[in-house]
Amino acid sequence: MKNRYKILVIEDEVHINNLLCALMDANGYQALAAHSCEEGNLMFASHRPDLVILDLGLPDRDGMQFLEEIRKDSLVPIIVLSARTDEKDKVLALNVGANDYVTKPFGSRELVARVGSALRTASHRAENGMRPGGKFKSRGLIIDYDARYVTIDGEEIRLTQTEYNIVALLSEHAGKMLTYDTIITEIWGYKDAGSTKKLQVNMANIRKKLGAQPGKQNYIINELGVGYRMSEGDDQM
Ligand code: CA
Repeated sequence: MKNRYKILVIEDEVHINNLLCALMDANGYQALAAHSCEEGNLMFASHRPDLVILDLGLPDRDGMQFLEEIRKDSLVPIIVLSARTDEKDKVLALNVGANDYVTKPFGSRELVARVGSALRTASHRAENGMRPGGKFKSRGLIIDYDARYVTIDGEEIRLTQTEYNIVALLSEHAGKMLTYDTIITEIWGYKDAGSTKKLQVNMANIRKKLGAQPGKQNYIINELGVGYRMSEGDDQM
């Protein structure tokens, strides 16, 4: 199962590190804590995290150096977290290969949303590399990840951005059940009182657009009270 992403948090201030790890855990991720560049390197090598949150002001070396080293042989998404508000630093970090930049003090929701977004972009990228042409195919349904375009038997299915993101997410995990919480966290980056309803409304529209019929073999299967599953792709048989 790929729904517990590993997040490596490299931050020397213990209370901020604890806060970040608790925040990641609370949002369904598995947090790993490191407090220096060296510890970060070791943890990175042994745990192969799915994403790194990196503070720039670290005791042994500058986080920017860590970023450069990691980028030599890894495309792991890296979100830089720093008190430096200077535009020059942001540009430099992004040029060196950071995927995103969050300035301290940060909002928890914003950070979680950015983590979700960076992971989504990364998994789409991995998917495109895995499948020639970056497409998902299942019984007449075709999802073109590059074009964000969905067709059934050659007919375009018009989806909103959110609907497309949900369909793409389910297709990446085709054949596996994704819980409501997993989908909500991946798509919106955070969960609130209205999230489940919001997901259900989107899913009802998606299923209607994909021509779902009771009793038929549908593309998306709803397991009541649990989550949703996309039927397996043709090339996964
Ligand atoms: Ca620091």
